[in-house]
Amino acid sequence: MPMKRRLRERPAAAAGPERRRRRAAAGWALVVHGGAGEPGQGASEERHERAVREALARVLEEGGAALAAGASSLDVVEQAVRALEDSPLFNAGRGAVFNAHGEHELEASIMDGRTLRAGAVANLRGIKNPVTLARWVMERTPHVCLEGEGAVAFARAQGMELVGPDYFWTEHRWKALKAARLHTQEEPGATPEHGTVGAVALDRRGDLAAATSTGGRTNKLAGRVGDSSIIGAGTYASNASCAVSCTGHGEYFIRVAAARDVCALMEYAGEDVRSAAARVVHRRLGRLGGKGGLIAVDRGGEIACVFNTATMYRGAVTRDSDVRVAVRRGQGL
Ligand code: ASP
Repeated sequence: MPMKRRLRERPAAAAGPERRRRRAAAGWALVVHGGAGEPGQGASEERHERAVREALARVLEEGGAALAAGASSLDVVEQAVRALEDSPLFNAGRGAVFNAHGEHELEASIMDGRTLRAGAVANLRGIKNPVTLARWVMERTPHVCLEGEGAVAFARAQGMELVGPDYFWTEHRWKALKAARLHTQEEPGATPEHGTVGAVALDRRGDLAAATSTGGRTNKLAGRVGDSSIIGAGTYASNASCAVSCTGHGEYFIRVAAARDVCALMEYAGEDVRSAAARVVHRRLGRLGGKGGLIAVDRGGEIACVFNTATMYRGAVTRDSDVRVAVRRGQGL
C-alpha cells in the first residue's frame, strides 16, 4: 500500500543525516574545574596542588567511565560536582569558605542542555551537596531557583540529609577568613581564590549539561549571591551551542551574563566554542576588570578552558584522549 511504503520510506530518507548526527554524537567529553586564582607559594602549596590534581583526575576517571558506558551528561556533571563537594580541598560543600559572620552559605546550579531545564540554590546552610538540591529544584518543583530557609525546608521535606556547621569547618578556610578581616580595605573577592568547582559534559546521545558549586567568597556579606547559582552567569547549557561552568569574581560574571554569553556568541554570531569563550573572558570580563575563567564543551566534543588569572585548576577526558589535568597556562588544556 502506498501509505505503508511512505511510512517505510521516511526513516530511510532520514537515515543519512541522522546516522551522521549519531556518529558525531557518539563521542563524549567531560571537563571539570576546581577554581581560578593566583598561585600560592611554598611546600604546603605544592602539596595542595598535588592533592587537587589527584582529586580532579579521580573525578575525571569515574565520570569518563560513566560517559563511555552511556551515562547521561546530566548525571555525570552532578556526580562529578558532588565528589568535589565532598572533598575539603575545594570551596564547595565541605571545604566552603567562611562569610563575614564566620558562617557558610553555599550555592550551586545545574542545567540540562537538551531541555533547557535548570535548577539553582543559594544561601544554603547545612546542605552537604548543594548540586543535588539544585537538581531536585529542577526536577521536583516548578521553579528554577530556591534560596535560604525555603531551600533548606524543601531539602528537609524531600528527605535530604542535613549536616551541622562543624561539617564545613576547615582550618585553612578559617585562617583565610582571619587574614581577609585584616585586609578590610580590599573588596571581598577582588582577588579570586581557588576552589569553586564545576563540570560540563557531552554524552553519547549528543546531550550537553553543566553544573557549578561554591561557598562563594571569603568574608562575603551574609546573604550575598554569586554567579554560581545564577543560570546564565555561572552556569549554562544548550544543545544548540555548548555547556559552560564559570569560576572567578562572581559579580563580574553576573554583569556580563558570562555563561550564556558564550552560548549566544556561538548561536548568533557563529563563533566556535574556543573563540567565544576567549572573547567573554579576555574581552568582556577583562575590560571590566573581572578575574576568573570558564570551561566549556560543545556538541562536537570541542573543549575550551580559558582564564585571565595566573592559574585555573582544570582537567578533561574525552572518548579520544585520556585524563589530563592542568593548572597553569600552556599545559595542554
Ligand atoms: N564565582 C564564585 C563566586 O563569586 C567564586 C569563585 O568561582 O571563585 O561566588
